[in-house]
Order: sequence, then structure tokens, then C-alpha cells
Amino acid sequence: MTAPVVRFAPSPTGRLHVGNVRTALVNWLFSQGQGGKFILRIDDTDLERSTKENERVLKEDLTWLGLVWADTFNQSERFGIYDQAADKLRTMGLLYPAYETAEELDVKRKIAQSRGRPPVYDRAALNLTAADRAKLEASGLKPHWRFKLSGARVEWNDLVRGPQGIDTSSVSDPVLIREDGSYLYTLPSVVDDIEAGITHVVRGEDHVTNSGAQIEIFMALGGKAPEMAHMPLLVGADGSALSKRIGSLSVGELRAQGIEAMAICSHLAKLGTSDNIEPRSTLVELAAEFSFSKIGRAPARFDETDLESLNAALVHAMPFSAVQARLAELDPRADNEAFWVAVRENCARISSAKPWVEIIFGKAAPDVAAEDKAFIAGAGAHLPTGELTGASWSEWTNALKAATGRKGKGLFMPLRKALTGLEHGPEMGAVLPLIGRKAVLERLG
Ligand code: GLU
Repeated sequence: MTAPVVRFAPSPTGRLHVGNVRTALVNWLFSQGQGGKFILRIDDTDLERSTKENERVLKEDLTWLGLVWADTFNQSERFGIYDQAADKLRTMGLLYPAYETAEELDVKRKIAQSRGRPPVYDRAALNLTAADRAKLEASGLKPHWRFKLSGARVEWNDLVRGPQGIDTSSVSDPVLIREDGSYLYTLPSVVDDIEAGITHVVRGEDHVTNSGAQIEIFMALGGKAPEMAHMPLLVGADGSALSKRIGSLSVGELRAQGIEAMAICSHLAKLGTSDNIEPRSTLVELAAEFSFSKIGRAPARFDETDLESLNAALVHAMPFSAVQARLAELDPRADNEAFWVAVRENCARISSAKPWVEIIFGKAAPDVAAEDKAFIAGAGAHLPTGELTGASWSEWTNALKAATGRKGKGLFMPLRKALTGLEHGPEMGAVLPLIGRKAVLERLG
């Protein structure tokens, strides 16, 4: 197989949500795994709803996720090229003007339905003579332009869904150009895919029907269509549509909550596949494991609880070098490798390290029960001499055990609570040298 060229084609009409990220990610993993090329196409033909700010944030989100592109372009800069393609289709007799208003089309649909026929456009406009058209236009009507489907069955072997067929006689000739001359998504997408040499169109299964018409346009303009892969829908953990909750599931939102890019990517890469969902720390690993053949056809369930667990697992294993800058931002005192290694397994997010900074380096609130007061007050005398190290905790507790007869929970818990104010937390062996002799003695009272 020659190296694939793929594109991710979002419309900059809102923030990137997990559904789009999955499409972007699958395109990225497939192309990178095969040494191919990933192109970012900005589908901003809808000039009213697309904004530059959305485009900027979209690019920022993709970059943060690590889904870097080899090339990017905007459809809004290419209207002249779409005009040329439209002219070519007109010359071929495949693009025809139609004048029905939205109301008239609605009536036609209702009549067809009441007669038990599918609501397919009846192609009345194909019978208009030049004189008819001139008359309609003289009355002030402007045409919209429809692509003339062949009426044959279009077939392709979908990389996810297997053999697919769309009977083009069962769908309306798609409108490619509106009355005001603006383009719907269908034609620009094909024109761009041909020009960019796209080898694989990978997108959501909501585009399966479009593919029937688009494959015919590909054939008309370029001679052949790319391979197609349509991904099953992404739904919520309870099976509900994700789109209703887009807000809370935008990449920006997840990022602000402290979810790591690789947690999102690890989750989305494996959802609805035959692989287990496990944390991966690089996209390269995910790319090596990617295959269309692993993707099932059932809707994939996006579970935020799983995302949280993946995130925690990734954070627990993060080396200091990977988090140093972010720790320094949390608190200058957190810029300390021994600190990170001590607390990371207690952190579901990197920001969870913050309270530990204060507990370890700042003012802890020692918690000493009445029955432990004497034990704690005497404990300092048994602290190993010299600078505290990783071995000090066990030396100290062994000495205390011998001196007091305390053991197990009765020995360790009062010390932990006196030193950190908490019943749970990082290994005391690692924490003790970080607190340091002076503060340990102070906390013991
Ligand atoms: N802008 C289209 C969308 O977001 C692109 C679809 C495609 O990948 O062809 O649905």
C-alpha cells in the first residue's frame, strides 16, 4: 500500500468535542502508523457560523492533544476552485438548475409520502426548457443547483463497515449550490479531497449516505474515489447521544479539569475496538496498535469514569521530567523530584499534588488523639540522628516499636496523623525526609 494521505475536516463553528477528537485521532493514528500524511482542512464555507476564534481554539486543542498536521488550508479561500468544478459538472450535464422553493419541495415530499413513496426529489427541473428557465428567472427566482445522480447502486468496501451500497435512485439529487451561490459541504469536500490526493476518507457514520453521492462526484471529477471508513457513533456511557452534552465534553473543558491529553487519546483510540482500554503515554504507541479491523460496528460508549481512571494511571507513572514545568506552576516548592515521586501515586491529576505541597512543606495541622499524646510527645527522642533519608522511617518505627511495644496501625497511624494531619497519603518513608528533621520535631510537639 502506498502511504496514506488523510484529512480531518472540522467546521469551526464551535469547540472540539470528544466525538470530533475521535475522528481526528483515528485519522492521525492510521496515517502515522503507515508513514502517511495527516492534513487539517478547515470546513468554513458557512461564513456566518464559522469564526476565526473557533479555528484558533480548534488548532490549539489539536496541538495540545499532539495531533499535529503536515498541512492545513481553509475552504473559504477556495471558492474559485469550487466554481471551476461546478462548471465542469455543468458541462458534463451533471449539475442542473432547479427553482422549487422550500415550501414547494415540502409539499412534494408530503404528497410522495402520502402515496407511500419515498420522499425523493422528482427531478421536475430536468424537464424545464430554456424558455421556462428564462421565465422563472425573469420572475425573480434564482436557481439552486443539483447533482444528477446516476440512479445506479454505488458500492464500496468500507474499512469499518465492510461492503456498503447506496441505491442512488432512492435518494434525492443533492443540492450542491444554494440560491445565493453558496456551496453546501458536498462538492467542496470532494474537490479538496481530489486535489490533496486523499487516499482514505475517515469520518463518522452520519456521512454514509453522503458517500453515495460523493463517490459519484469523485468519479465524475477525478475518475476514482478514495477508500472510505465510517466510524460508529460515539455515545454516552448510558447510551445517550453525546451531542447533548457537548459543552461538558469539549477538549477545552476536559483540559481545564486536569485531564491529560494522553488519557483522552488512550480512551478514544480504544473505545469500541477489540483492544482493552489501557493507558498509553505516547501517540506513537497508539498508532502502532491501530487497525481499522479492530473497530466494531456498535456505537462506542464514552465513559467519563474510565477516562478518570486512565488519567490517574497515567499521572501515577509520570516521570518528574514530564511534569516539572507544571509542578513549578502549581507551587515553586513542588518543583522537586523527590516530592513528585513521593506524592504522584496519590494524585488523580497533576493538580492534586498542590495540597501535598502545603502538607509536606508548609503548615500541617497535626492530629493527635488523646490516647496517643504521650506516645507522640516521646517519639521525637527516637528519631534517627543526622539528616533524614529514605531509610529513616523504618529505623524510627522499629526503634519506637522496641521502646513502646506498639505495632501495626497503633504504631504507624498516630505518627502519620501527627505529621500530616491525615489518615491516608503517600508512603511515610518518602515523606519523612521531605518534611525534614526540624519540622518533624515541631509537629510532634
Ligand atoms: N466538515 C464535515 C463534518 O464535520 C466533514 C465531513 C468529512 O469528513 O467529509 O462533518
